[in-house]
Amino acid sequence: ITEVGETLRGFTQVSYEDIGGLREEIQKVREMIELPLRHPEIFEKLGIEAPKGVLLYGPPGTGKTLLAKAVASESNAHFISISGPEIMSKFYGESEARLREIFKEAREKAPTIMFVDEIDSIAPKREEVTGEVERRIVSQILSLMDGLEARGGVIVIAATNRPNAVDPALRRPGRFDREIEIKVPDRSGRLEILQIHARNMPLQSDVDQSRIAAITHGFVGADLEYLCKEAAMKCLRRMLPELDLEQEQVPLETLDKLVITQGDFDQ
Ligand code: ATP
Repeated sequence: ITEVGETLRGFTQVSYEDIGGLREEIQKVREMIELPLRHPEIFEKLGIEAPKGVLLYGPPGTGKTLLAKAVASESNAHFISISGPEIMSKFYGESEARLREIFKEAREKAPTIMFVDEIDSIAPKREEVTGEVERRIVSQILSLMDGLEARGGVIVIAATNRPNAVDPALRRPGRFDREIEIKVPDRSGRLEILQIHARNMPLQSDVDQSRIAAITHGFVGADLEYLCKEAAMKCLRRMLPELDLEQEQVPLETLDKLVITQGDFDQ
């Protein structure tokens, strides 16, 4: 698939180590998704069915997409990413055909993790849906999910910020019947996230990441990533007058002056 989102295998690998906080959530995802994809025989032996669909819900920027990519990478699974709004707008008129193609690719390339971001925009509660097209797309998804075999090696992960806006029919057994809440990180989660995003940054020893974690209550992973990038940019702006950019390459001893300080994080 080239036009519908991205296909991941061999690039954009994400590991569980790249996710800060969310320890219990990663554990759940490993049991619910990674284990059945890697070892369907265990589920067969136990006589239980692996889930076909898992709903991740929580505020934007908390790592839902990251977690889906990580479990795909770590399970060596094919990864297909689509988004609700994309299906609704880009393929308007041929959305159902595209959905059938996407599910076909998923089955052919199994084990596959199909990630559907912002599911609420494709499949809001049907009473909220007015258009005939929207209604047809919801039914198409329901029938494609029902058509997946329990041990077919395809698991659909859907994400939403508004779990209550998702059509209840999608949350019935055999569809998105497992749910994992992805919360805003607490202080220790924030510290882990900061450590991940600053791990390749030249930080001065005065940078106190624990303090930054303590005073960033309410920040989600995406905010903390932005904070780190901003600090690096402040460092760059501060040091720019000292960098001789006339030369082909900035000399090593000048590059060594690029050190991010606590002040770069503070302002
Ligand atoms: P949305 O609902 O907006 O799609 P999301 O929950 O899927 O949000 P992501 O796209 O996974 O959020 O997060 C955006 C970026 O923020 C990630 O690519 C990552 O760099 C950073 N990030 C978010 N959460 C975490 C986390 N727990 N650990 C490390 N980085 C994180």
